[in-house]
Amino acid sequence: ERLFKSSFNRSQNDDDGDTRATLEKMAKLRLQKAKLMGKKSYAEWRLQDQMAQNPAVAMDLLAKIAKPAVEKSKIEAKDIQDLIDIQHGGFKLEPWDWNFYSEQVRKAKYDLDESQIKPYFEVNNVLEKGVFYAANKMYGITFKVRKDLPVYNSDVVVYEVFDKDGSSLAIYYLDFYTRDNKNGGAWMNNFVNQSHYLKQKPVIVNVYNFAKPVGGNPSLISFDDVTTMFHEFGHTLHGLFANQKYISLSGTSVPRDYVEFPSQINEHAALDPEVLKNYAIHYQTKEVIPQALIEKIKKAETFNKGYDVTELLAAATLDMAWHSVENEADFKPTLQFENEALKKYGLLVNEVPTRYHSPYFAHIWSGGYSAGYYAYTWSKTLDYNAFDWMQANGGLTRTNCERFRKYILSVGNSVDLNKAFKNFIGHEMKIEPYLINAGLK
Ligand SMILES: [Zn+2]
Repeated sequence: ERLFKSSFNRSQNDDDGDTRATLEKMAKLRLQKAKLMGKKSYAEWRLQDQMAQNPAVAMDLLAKIAKPAVEKSKIEAKDIQDLIDIQHGGFKLEPWDWNFYSEQVRKAKYDLDESQIKPYFEVNNVLEKGVFYAANKMYGITFKVRKDLPVYNSDVVVYEVFDKDGSSLAIYYLDFYTRDNKNGGAWMNNFVNQSHYLKQKPVIVNVYNFAKPVGGNPSLISFDDVTTMFHEFGHTLHGLFANQKYISLSGTSVPRDYVEFPSQINEHAALDPEVLKNYAIHYQTKEVIPQALIEKIKKAETFNKGYDVTELLAAATLDMAWHSVENEADFKPTLQFENEALKKYGLLVNEVPTRYHSPYFAHIWSGGYSAGYYAYTWSKTLDYNAFDWMQANGGLTRTNCERFRKYILSVGNSVDLNKAFKNFIGHEMKIEPYLINAGLK
């Protein structure tokens, strides 16, 4: 409780670290800037070249998911309270109890233990027999190690990537292991961008922070890490298949509410039955992962989603509220403004606090995600719509993936992406697939 409170209430304690006056000033300056550009609000200015196009459309999506998400979080809260009562805890669930007890609910409900799963996910196997295998099955591309090319660290491996007709497509750098001087996390980056105008083929890197194998023990990763690998490689595919004249419109140079869509689609390949059986091999017994374990992993996917989605939507709503104000007089002191915004959309839930409190919401005040935090939800909705279309048409088949490459991966930002998306799935983006796939309905 003490830890939670000092974390949640940081940057609002009337001391040097209090950010409230600064962010209130920033919000006002952003509104002024938008007015100078002839827009009603900062969000309207920021969203003009995004998929959502204007703040009302973005907010509508968030609001429609918020209701079922909060309802689901109430059910999860009840499961946790029941567990507390069975253990004769004698207290009411508070936000600082959530993670501790929800972990126990997970164990009781799904009987899923990390140490059970990890031996099936050896990092190189996941890459070559999972990620590369899936890319070959889906798009026909192949990979060949290039030992003759320079690397910036001896851990880095370089591959040349070939298209289905055998022509050279790109160079792919892979930097798997964590080092003392390396940033945390996982990402994709273009060293060289694709451009017909400049006669350039892409050079792409995927960076991870997996533990380096020591003393003959292999590097085993969690299923979350497996998903991350497929995700980052999805960004790579977006870069690999770029087929544009100009760099500024090529590959992953697309709107923020769109860029995560290709990477999320590739995550589904991790659970494709044929792909999974090819890479999830026990590193000692060489046994393929048992079906029962796969079922458990799949079921556990939607666990705690009410909480996860609610805290994400609360943060996205705050961002949109701060940046949709049209009259300076409508700004209020930070905490009051925040409470009113969350309350308006039913997102002021005691047990499920917003992922970021306004005073330390760095993404939107300094991190380039101002009026853009909804993008995660928007991309995910695109992903669920497209995946449902694929499932209804036979899954991740070559035909479906070729179509995905043509309409989505190759076009960069050179066409109207709302139209491209509609051409791909045959209808506008719907909310229903999000609710069903995230287990909110
Ligand atoms: Zn991503």
